[in-house]
Amino acid sequence: MYKINETIINLIKGDITKIETDAIVNAANNTLLGGGGVDGAIHRAGGPEILDQCKKIGGCPTGEARITTAGNLPSNYVIHTVGPVYRGGDNREAELLYNAYYNSLKLAKEYNLKTIAFPSISTGVYGYPIDKASDIAIKAVTDFIEEKGSIDKVDFVLFSDNDYEIYEKKLNKLMNE
Ligand code: ADP
Repeated sequence: MYKINETIINLIKGDITKIETDAIVNAANNTLLGGGGVDGAIHRAGGPEILDQCKKIGGCPTGEARITTAGNLPSNYVIHTVGPVYRGGDNREAELLYNAYYNSLKLAKEYNLKTIAFPSISTGVYGYPIDKASDIAIKAVTDFIEEKGSIDKVDFVLFSDNDYEIYEKKLNKLMNE
């Protein structure tokens, strides 16, 4: 467990669909109509209620976020955000990935949500190198806490040992600065 100002930061290894929190974040695609990876897992575990709302929303630009209820999941809401496909790093990927995290947190605040869980956005099929992506994730969350406060707990839910260890190293370093 880590703390930034008044916000608890947790690292969790495992499946985000099992997390009990106000909102889990989905690494969706622009259609919001479901896909593989974490997106597929969330729709499978959450059931058709989530997809029905996504269809009505009608899509989401890269870097933005949209919200639905969470169907059968133990969380209350799903915040769907779209990270960038990594194409070498010169195509605004860093800014877009930052926005995906930051805008998810802004939406949580608008809904008065206090706890949120993020997967590692864009680092699966979208190919963003985890070392770079984790820096951006941590920076966006830290900036949001410092600029807006208003969130009690942020979970980073990592699916692999390697991803978990990378986050652990970076957060340890940040706490010792
Ligand atoms: P993207 O298309 O944004 O790259 P992916 O779903 O392909 O999204 O991958 C994002 C990350 O989510 C990857 O690290 C992947 O291993 C991880 N992941 C896949 N399923 C789950 C799950 N059920 N819970 C948490 N993380 C998951």
